[in-house]
Amino acid sequence: MRIISAEAGADDEAIDRAIRPRLLADYVGQPVVREQMEIFIQAARARGEALDHVLIFGPPGLGKTTLAHIIANEMGVNLRQTSGPVLEKPGDLAALLTNLEPHDVLFVDEIHRLSPVVEEVLYPALEDYQLDIMIGEGPAARSIKLELPPFTLVGATTRAGLLTSPLRDRFGIVQRLEFYSTTDLTHIVGRSAGILNIETDPAGAAEIARRSRGTPRIANRLLRRVRDFAQVKAEGRVTSAVADSALDMLKVDGSGFDIMDRKLLSAIINKFDGGPVGVDSLAAAIGEERGTIEDVLEPYLIQQGFMMRTPRGRVATNAAYLHFGLEPKEDAAP
Ligand code: ADP
Repeated sequence: MRIISAEAGADDEAIDRAIRPRLLADYVGQPVVREQMEIFIQAARARGEALDHVLIFGPPGLGKTTLAHIIANEMGVNLRQTSGPVLEKPGDLAALLTNLEPHDVLFVDEIHRLSPVVEEVLYPALEDYQLDIMIGEGPAARSIKLELPPFTLVGATTRAGLLTSPLRDRFGIVQRLEFYSTTDLTHIVGRSAGILNIETDPAGAAEIARRSRGTPRIANRLLRRVRDFAQVKAEGRVTSAVADSALDMLKVDGSGFDIMDRKLLSAIINKFDGGPVGVDSLAAAIGEERGTIEDVLEPYLIQQGFMMRTPRGRVATNAAYLHFGLEPKEDAAP
């Protein structure tokens, strides 16, 4: 697996549980989201109501699942977790919904991948806490209506644009997570190091933060790999020099890019003369899926100003040329 993949891996799970913040106050960064959620949660609690449905969107590893758990925790309710592709039939959704306690949170990850029939059943559940389902088949089939307890749906998706508009319209609260600043990530690395008993100095934490693609999951994973390196080569202490050598060894460069990022940028520059190039051609050129480019690779590269998305395709910027020590093209984007 990519060392800086923002997707969760099997080895992340146990450690995730240990370091995942459980309270809004421990959720680092995302000040706008935090401030708003604090108010919405407090208000719903004061009224004794379920929190309005929440849609969270942002690239993988930025804290969508964490935020969903925090919401349930702060509301003092249970969280049930599922994901869009897992809910194949309306009955799968019905089974989950009818088992909820009042005000519980149902967390649906990858909500953009719900099948249309399941989505259809979800609408009245979201609006009126009612479930209309068909039971039986053929002439014996009939529709039954079930009352549901008031609940909160928390949906997560990597891109809001992938949701159908009737579904999007049913969320009263929409939160967009941004890539984290180096300062916030330094804080996250420091916090995780504390929990995992890893000795880090502030410059060591900052070096890991700087090279984590603005993503807490990557920061936490790099911290663990740097710890291994520190243990073997530096008596366990993570300093800036140790972090730097460890990350170089892991082929994470000074901008936090790994081999896939470099492959993508260098394909635009070398195979397509800097672009514009369509995402499908790009995907074929680097042997990666289109969705991975769109969801995982390019959001950070665009945010950092190394590439641009234009109506005619992807374009490498001056910064991308300079990253490879190349002379920018005359007409390259600044
Ligand atoms: P997503 O669901 O968006 O893919 P997660 O919620 O699973 O991301 O977050 C990945 C990891 O990053 C979590 O284990 C958590 O420890 C850490 N994390 C995410 N957001 C924050 C945050 N705001 N503050 C501290 N740690 C965070």
